[in-house]
Amino acid sequence: MSQNQPILRLAGLLKKFNGFTALDSVDLSVSEGEFLAIVGPSGSGKTTLIRLLVGMDEQTDGTIWLRDERLDTVPANERPTCMVFQSLALFPHRTVGQNIEFPLKIRKVDAARRKERALELLNLLRLPEHYYDRRINECSGGERQRIALARALAFDPEILFFDEPLSALDYRLRKTLEKELKDLHQRTGKTFIYITHSLEEAMVMSDRIAIMRKGQFEQIGPGEEIYARPQSRFVAEFMGEVNLFPARPGEGAHAFEGLAVDDKAAAQQGLIAAEGAYLMVRPEKVRVLEEGERADFTTAGTVHAGYLLGSRRQYEIERGDQKPLIIEIVQDGSPPLADGARVRLGFDAGDTHLVERD
Ligand code: ATP
Repeated sequence: MSQNQPILRLAGLLKKFNGFTALDSVDLSVSEGEFLAIVGPSGSGKTTLIRLLVGMDEQTDGTIWLRDERLDTVPANERPTCMVFQSLALFPHRTVGQNIEFPLKIRKVDAARRKERALELLNLLRLPEHYYDRRINECSGGERQRIALARALAFDPEILFFDEPLSALDYRLRKTLEKELKDLHQRTGKTFIYITHSLEEAMVMSDRIAIMRKGQFEQIGPGEEIYARPQSRFVAEFMGEVNLFPARPGEGAHAFEGLAVDDKAAAQQGLIAAEGAYLMVRPEKVRVLEEGERADFTTAGTVHAGYLLGSRRQYEIERGDQKPLIIEIVQDGSPPLADGARVRLGFDAGDTHLVERD
């Protein structure tokens, strides 16, 4: 498994529907063995992209490459790729064995070898071998998910595509399967390309996340990097709760709306208040300041609402007609902030990031 050689490459991939551009000349390289998650709001082009990759639709322009070979000219049923759908598309009245073996049967693999492979896959997916004769409609949702994965792996595809496979499941099962899928990815060493609405799912499982916006990749990188250093306001907001302070270049080199600033600290971090830029700070980086305590950026407001988020508590801090600030405080046993309390807040230049555009 080489991390360097791209197994899949898209070059200028374009898809139009009657003049509407659903996929806008995208380029992408995916390394062999990588787990890439593609996320984006509804209508951003995720399904359009995956349909081209598996051969369910044809591009308007551009090319798709599997290593050094054109993939987009290969018929769908001959591509060394496989797709796992949300609906799973299993045959409910057939047995688990028949379902897993289906792609092998199409490829005319003999019965003995098919069964051997099906049992191997049941083991890989940690399902008991006696499930081989059980009918799909006698299996639970989580088991069906594993069977669909076993079927996808049956003919040893080079790349597995997933289209929201967990979105219909309840939270606990989803969490379990997220871990299993990640584990399966590591054990098989296959390349996984995974479409999801859920950023959390993408963060838990993938090596890199590609964020789609209006038919293009807005940013691609490891989850932590995109979270900490989003290139645009769109990505910053997509990646979870965030505080964004619009730049006020007319008021000073480091002036951001509603903040008092230590100019020296801001200058050291290169936080220049350019037109159209925002200063970003994530809620967990904002501190409630003690009397006399300093911070590079400070502001003040009134505690409005508090919500418990497991180990942390999130508050909205009202600041007159400016957007409320979101802060998160780890629950360390100290009493929660009182509704209506006046607080001074601060954060350090090193915990911020300059977002350059919308
Ligand atoms: P969702 O998360 O809701 O599934 P998506 O990111 O998968 O959204 P796509 O289904 O790829 O989005 O759609 C991208 C855009 O292309 C949308 O504006 C959609 O209306 C349009 N589109 C998709 N398929 C067709 C089609 N067959 N004819 C016309 N327009 C289409």
